[in-house]
Parts: sequence; C-alpha cells; structure tokens
Amino acid sequence: MSEQALHILQSVFGYDDFRAQQGAIIDNILHRRDTLAIMPTGGGKSICYQIPALIFEGLTLVISPLISLMEDQVDQLTSLGIRAALLNSTLSSREYHDTLAKVHDGTLKLLYMAPETLMLERTRQVLSGVRIDCLTIDEAHCISEWGHDFRPEYRQLADVRQSLPDAVCVALTATATPRVQQDIKGILRMSGANAFIASFDRPNLFLEVVEKQNPVNQTVQLIARYPDQSGIIYCNSRRQVDELTQTLADRGYSVAPYHAGLSSEERKANQRAFIRDDVLIMVATVAFGMGINKSNVRYVLHFDLPQNIESYYQQIGRAGRDGLPAFCHFLFGYGDIQKVKFFINKKSESEQRIAGQHLNALIGYAESEECRRGPLLHYFGENHQEENCQQCDNCLSQQQPLTDVTVAAQKFLSCIYRTGQLFGAAYLIDVLRGSKARKILDRQHDQITTYGIGTELTKPQWQQLARKLQQEDLITQHPEYGSLKLADNARAVLKGERTVVMRLTQRPEFTGKKAAEQVQPDCHQELFDRLRRCRKVLADQENVPPYIIFSDKTLIDMASRLPQSRDALLQISGVGQVKLSHYGDAFLHEITTFCQEQGVQGTIETRPTSPGLSQEQPAGRHIQVGELFVQFNCLDRMLGELKIKEATMLSHLYKYQTQVASLPRTDAFINKSSLLPAQQAEVLDAMSLLGTERLRPVYEQLREQVCYHELHLLRLHYLVHHAGESVTDGG
Ligand code: ADP
Ligand code: ZN
Repeated sequence: MSEQALHILQSVFGYDDFRAQQGAIIDNILHRRDTLAIMPTGGGKSICYQIPALIFEGLTLVISPLISLMEDQVDQLTSLGIRAALLNSTLSSREYHDTLAKVHDGTLKLLYMAPETLMLERTRQVLSGVRIDCLTIDEAHCISEWGHDFRPEYRQLADVRQSLPDAVCVALTATATPRVQQDIKGILRMSGANAFIASFDRPNLFLEVVEKQNPVNQTVQLIARYPDQSGIIYCNSRRQVDELTQTLADRGYSVAPYHAGLSSEERKANQRAFIRDDVLIMVATVAFGMGINKSNVRYVLHFDLPQNIESYYQQIGRAGRDGLPAFCHFLFGYGDIQKVKFFINKKSESEQRIAGQHLNALIGYAESEECRRGPLLHYFGENHQEENCQQCDNCLSQQQPLTDVTVAAQKFLSCIYRTGQLFGAAYLIDVLRGSKARKILDRQHDQITTYGIGTELTKPQWQQLARKLQQEDLITQHPEYGSLKLADNARAVLKGERTVVMRLTQRPEFTGKKAAEQVQPDCHQELFDRLRRCRKVLADQENVPPYIIFSDKTLIDMASRLPQSRDALLQISGVGQVKLSHYGDAFLHEITTFCQEQGVQGTIETRPTSPGLSQEQPAGRHIQVGELFVQFNCLDRMLGELKIKEATMLSHLYKYQTQVASLPRTDAFINKSSLLPAQQAEVLDAMSLLGTERLRPVYEQLREQVCYHELHLLRLHYLVHHAGESVTDGG
C-alpha cells in the first residue's frame, strides 16, 4: 500500500484506515491499471479516485450524471482544502473562465463534468494540451442499457476513453448485477482482472418489514422514534406524496414533498432544504434520491411497494451513509401487490415475465422469516453466512424464546367468532385490548366476553399471532375485505386439542437519539446537540450543507471522547488538517465549555506517553492498560507507570472490561471513590437498575449530584463484581 495514500487519508480526510477494498483499488489506480470498483452506496467510493487524483501530477476528470452530485463533491473537496471545480453550461461566463484558467495553470486537481459537457467541441478544445492522468466515470452503470438508469450520453464515453490513451480509467458504481458489470467493462474495454467488488452488506442498516395496515398511523408511530433526525418516506404516487405530506405537516412535522409533478424550482428548493437540515422529512416518489449525498439520513420508510429489490436496496442505501445506525422500515401490504399485478397484466408478455419475477423476489424478501440480509445479498450474488445479524426484525425475533400462545390464540379465535367473522385483525385486536373506539362501542362489542381480555400481548404481537394463525391455516382472510374467518382446524385449538407455539417479537424501541448512543455508549447527548447547532451556524455562513462541515459520526466521536486541544481534535475520525484550521476552534470552544460545566474529562491523549504505550497502536492500548492492571491491581501505581490522566486510564479499563476480559474482583476502584458509602450504594443501585452501558441515566437518577468521574470509577467497581452475570442494557 502506498505510504503516500495512507498519509493523505489521515492528514487530509482525517480517517485512520482504509475500508475493505479501498486500499487495493487505490493501489491499482496508482499503478495506472484501469479499475472497476463496485461498492454499495455509502461504501466509500469517492476516496478511491480522489486520493490518486491528489498524487497524480496532472488533472483527474470526473464524469458524473447529475449536477447536484457534482456540486456536492466539489463542496466536500473544497472543505478539505482540495482544489476541485465543476464545468457546466449553467456557469456564468466569468466562472467558466476562472475555472479554465485554473485548469490551464495546473492548480486544479479534479474537474467534474457531465458527459454532455465533455462531448462539446469547446470542452474538447479546452482540454487539449492539458495533462489528464485519470478519467473517472462515476455512476458507471448509466452506460448500460441493463442498468436501472441508462443514459445514452454515457455511451459516448467509450470514444472519449480511446482519445485519452494516457489516462487511467476508473469506473465506479453501486450496481452489482453481473450483466451491468460486463457491459461497463466491455464498453470501456477494461480487463476483468481489475474489477474490485466490495460486499454489499451495510451492517449499520437495520431492516424491518411491517405488515401494512393503517399506513398513516404506522408512519406517524415510526417517525416519532426519530425526533430531530432526517428521514425519507417513499410513496408510489404523487397524490400519496401530497396527502402524506399534508397529514404530517398538520401534525407539526418538518416535512416537504418531492415528485415529478412539482415545478423544478419547488423540487430544487425542497431538496435543498432537506439537505441543509432545514426540513427533516422528505416525502417523495422514486424521483427523489439520485444525487443525494446527505450522510445523516437516519431512516428510510417505504410507504408503498418498491419496484424491485434492486431499487429497494438503492433507496434504503441512502440511509446511514455516515456509518451510524440507520433504520429501514418497509410497510408491506397485500393490497399493494394486487395493484402492481394489475399493471403488470397490461404489459407485453416478455415484460410481464420480468416484472413478475421482480415482484416475486420482492414478496419473497418481505415474507421471509430468515435473516433479511440473506435474500437481499443473494440478489446481488453474495452468500450471506452470518447466523444472526442482530440488525433485522427476523434475527431479533429469533433471539426470543418459543412461547406457548395457545391461550391467546383461543382468545383471538373466539373473538373472531363472537364478532360474526366480519372483521379484520386490527379491529379484533382493538376489541381484545379493550379499546373505547366509537366503532366498537357503537356495535356493542364492549359487551361481548372477549372484550378487553387480551392485554397480555402488545398490538404488534397480536398482529404477529394473527399472521401465524393464517400461516397455520387456522383462519382465512377475505381477499377483498380482509375480514377473518375460522377455518376447520380452528376447532381443535379452541377445544385445547392443538397448541400454538411461536416466537413473539419484542421490538426494541429505537429512537433517533439512541441511534447515536448505540455506537458510542458514552456520547454526551447534550453536547452532541450543541455541536450540531454549531455546525448548522457554520454551514449556513458558508452556504453548504451541514454534513460537509463534519458528519454526524465525527460529532458523536467528539461528544464521546471530548477532545479539548487541537492535537486531540485531530484524533477524531473525520478531522483533517484543513478542517482543523477552519472549524477547530469553534468546536473546541463548545467542548471545553461543556466539560467545564459538567466537570468531565476527555479520553484522548495529546502526547505520546510512556514508551510501552506508543501512539502508533491506539487500537490495542486498552489491552495494554488492562493487562497492566491485572498485574498491579493498584490505580495509583498504574498512574505512576503510565503517566496518563486518570480519566483516560479508566476509559481504557472500561473498554478492556467490556470488550476483552473481566478484570479481577477488586476494591481498587471503590477505594478511589471519594463519595460517602451511602452515596456509593445509591450509585451502585442505580447501575443495577439502569444498566451500565450509558452513564447519563445514572447521572440523572442521582439528580446530577455525582460527577462523571465518580460514575466511571463506580461503574468499574460494579462491573468487576458482577462479571459473568447477564448484562442489562439499560435501554
Ligand atoms: P459512496 O460514494 O460509495 O456512496 P462516499 O464516498 O460518499 O460513499 O463515502 C461515504 C462516507 O464514508 C463519507 O462520509 C466518507 O467520507 C466516509 N468514508 C469513506 N472512506 C472512509 C474511511 N476509510 N474511513 C472512514 N470514513 C470513510
Ligand atoms: Zn438478520
């Protein structure tokens, strides 16, 4: 791996290491071998050509289909201090000539343009005589008629490629179907040896399919989990987009619509507001999304059936580009399938076949009871091996034990019977759970024996049971009205001759804020909010989207590790030299103020300490510290030896305790505490009640009277004395 590339990654981009394949791709490009790089959205494609561009002497031309994508890239690069520009017909003549001047005096490293611009005679003239070392083709699937986004202009790139024999050619895409790959390689004449395909798994995406019942209510419930966070809701029709936007706006949500029926100004304005965090929720048709690089989209909700698995994957891929947990909810309705089938039947025979296959694959995905990653990744030709991804509804419910739900099933069946076999699951569940809804009282269903006897299960669990009864042919559903009827087999259950057993899902309650805390249990939420506000002010001043300044991930890293000097700030992921000099002081000010207010300290070393603990191996440092503790069993001796701050040492020990091995059952920690014994007991009680993963709840429980330093000490005491017990997560 080129030393220089790694150095640029760290000093310019502020990242520690290359992700899978990035290093190999960059190496290949630097050896001037044509390269096809296939990575999922958010995988980190851009760095693959941007770092070589900084190393090459000449210019890197980047072809991209959309202005918004190019503008975003140029903004990103500029914020990193990299000279990049966009050549485009909308530029004023002055801007155009400025850019040309930079191309000619060799100060520009990257020049972005659409294929149409490149084909123009005037562009070709401008570029003749300029040394071009690399031709990068972004969204390269646009070259293939088999892709989902064929653009005829892209075809002509084959000729351009031939006319630049000295430039290495790099094609990038997130589309992995073999057919499209072959096309890209063939048209651009690249040899197979130089294709790099990264895994399409996006482990930070939580995947969930929910049966669509009352979609508006379901949507409201889902988005309530993400206060202050950005999300996209996809609908299939303009009308649906407008209606849902209105409904959400009426309820006070920050929301805007996007579909092809709006004027192009409106679309632009809405998209811009979303990208700049001025509007949080975008309700959109599939027209929205291409060209969106916003990294802090926390959730994507499919209100309607997506076209096929590939576009579904594209759409959910827009969530969580910053690598933080993000959530994908799919409201899957059988009624929607009927609608799609209706349209399919109107197509020609061959189109019907393909559309039918797509639909079946999608239904298969939605109905699967296995890990959701299996069918998704299979579609992209990958074999998903992992047994339990912990990040999809099916895997989470598999962790639940099998429960005998015969009694609940009997209640459900008899409720169907007593209401005359006329109602759907949602109504029956309301009766069982004793709802006082008008529709129930009017029909006097509050008078029947099954009214209000079903509080032992949550609504979603009752839904799950209803599906199970259907799967086991105990009940049938009217295809049009959705009403449930007893099947012959139901009698056996009602008589107690047959049992019903299933895994009841207990859905973890996610909230947007918790998403942050899931990655960094020690993230100080309040500081994170302050840093976000600071970022927004700077972004508005500079007229760029907030994530261009720093990603959420970078802010969370700051709000967890609390860097209080420029040196320390540089160790935060995503902080390179230029951003440090531009924004460092503003963020340091927020962090330092917070630390003083709260009496907390950071966990970052500013200077290399004792020889055994060099800066080069930050990853293993907690192991060294942990092992030293096992040896010494004395905090003061450790401090003398390590010459690091006590807070830092405790944070290493915590990491060791939770990620490596349990420390000895010692009183070393509690002995260091300066609280009164009664207070200590109160803290330990709170920890056993609230868990130890996050200290904030404990801090609040103790009326904010006990400082975090004490909490860190006592948490270690608690953990070493409770090692081996099952861990409560406190969430
Ligand atoms: P793609 O173009 O593949 O959708 P991007 O190039 O936009 O993805 O990268 C997604 C995010 O990941 C960006 O915020 C980028 O800065 C970040 N990223 C890329 N490479 C790394 C890395 N090696 N370490 C940490 N973050 C990275
Ligand atoms: Zn799974």
